[in-house]
Amino acid sequence: PILDLPAARNALRATFGFDDFRGRQAEVVERTLAGQSSLAVMPTGAGKSLTYQLPAVMLEGTCVVISPLIALMHDQLRSARANGIRAATLTSADADWRETQDAFRAGELDLLYVAPERASQPAFRDFLSSARLALFAIDEAHCVSEWGHDFRPDYRMLRPLMDAFPEVPRLALTATADRQTRPDMLNQLGIPEDGLVLAGFDRPNIRYTIRHRDNPVRQLTTLMAERPGPGIVYAQTRRKVEDLADKLAAATGRQVLPYHAGLDPQTRAANQAAFVASEDMVIVATVAFGMGIDKPDVRFVAHVGVPKSIEAYYQETGRAGRDGDPSAATMFWGAGDFATARMRLAEVDEERRNAERARLDALAALVETPECRRAVLLRHFGEDPPQTCGNCDNCLDAPDVTDATELARKLLSA
Ligand code: ADP
Ligand code: MG
Repeated sequence: PILDLPAARNALRATFGFDDFRGRQAEVVERTLAGQSSLAVMPTGAGKSLTYQLPAVMLEGTCVVISPLIALMHDQLRSARANGIRAATLTSADADWRETQDAFRAGELDLLYVAPERASQPAFRDFLSSARLALFAIDEAHCVSEWGHDFRPDYRMLRPLMDAFPEVPRLALTATADRQTRPDMLNQLGIPEDGLVLAGFDRPNIRYTIRHRDNPVRQLTTLMAERPGPGIVYAQTRRKVEDLADKLAAATGRQVLPYHAGLDPQTRAANQAAFVASEDMVIVATVAFGMGIDKPDVRFVAHVGVPKSIEAYYQETGRAGRDGDPSAATMFWGAGDFATARMRLAEVDEERRNAERARLDALAALVETPECRRAVLLRHFGEDPPQTCGNCDNCLDAPDVTDATELARKLLSA
């Protein structure tokens, strides 16, 4: 019985202040507490962090968390510490290495965040042997697979490292549900097939809309008026980001800030912090923005141009409405967008190009479909959704079926 876990529920309330587990969190926590390894595939915003943080608090020993980006780790560190969890990072950006190592050896850490490149260092294996380990948590686990959309070779060194600690359970986490990628992740990380926990991908509070782009500033101004809260606008290039941010600020009188890799680090950090704190700000950004940002009240995500794949579309739009309130995912696309995206694929190495092209083609199919957007999207992730959702442009704008039947009857009886 999944919820027969009084100790876990108490810890959930005491540490995180939540009354209930969400989705399949309880199942993952239960498996982990029982020492079983799992691959949890859950959508962005589902609450994957809690599935390793809670066992980390409950189990004796330290949970070693592998995470691909330093910025992501520091976000996690901050929120873990805010909940009173004893956490630390070991990265090139940290000055307190010695303190962290001492705390680990003394068994005083619940969570230790490390970058995957650590895994390949023999000294790190010795270091891990110097204290008790509770769990290996591998965040963004799709990075281990060449089939995934963000392959990182260092993730391949995790398996030999974890194999050196065979009694320590593994919990891999990802939002990538791709049928091809799943078995590869299990295999590369040494997790048994029956450890797969696949949660639903539907985000019913998100309204999907895909439209032709005619005048993006006017179209975005309308969207901002319809969805007055915080929003993210994704644009393709730095120049377009700057240009759109200026024009939207002028057109709406609202605070609209840019975010891209070409800004100096202080400005970037300041704009991101302003957005996270704000209740009505819009950020115009390249895809460099968003990974690991936990802002529950984003009311819309807009794309000006097309993302690089259907996975990227799902992840980026998934940043809207994590609090469950009504939100919009609106794409404004143009005729040349897919040609440009295909050209960019030429830079991808040959081995991965076919998989990437298939994901781009799946996005093109989503853009062109007259059917329910949600149904097409969820089918791509291996689900079997209803034919219509009532909360996407195609369902809402579809000619009213009853009217059509009525009309046909009148024509026939005339
Ligand atoms: P993911 O990594 O799956 O994208 P996160 O771990 O960042 O998601 O969690 C997303 C948000 O959901 C966070 O604000 C987190 O506090 C919240 N959350 C997680 N579990 C629960 C729960 N059981 N009840 C309520 N909120 C939760
Ligand atoms: Mg996460």
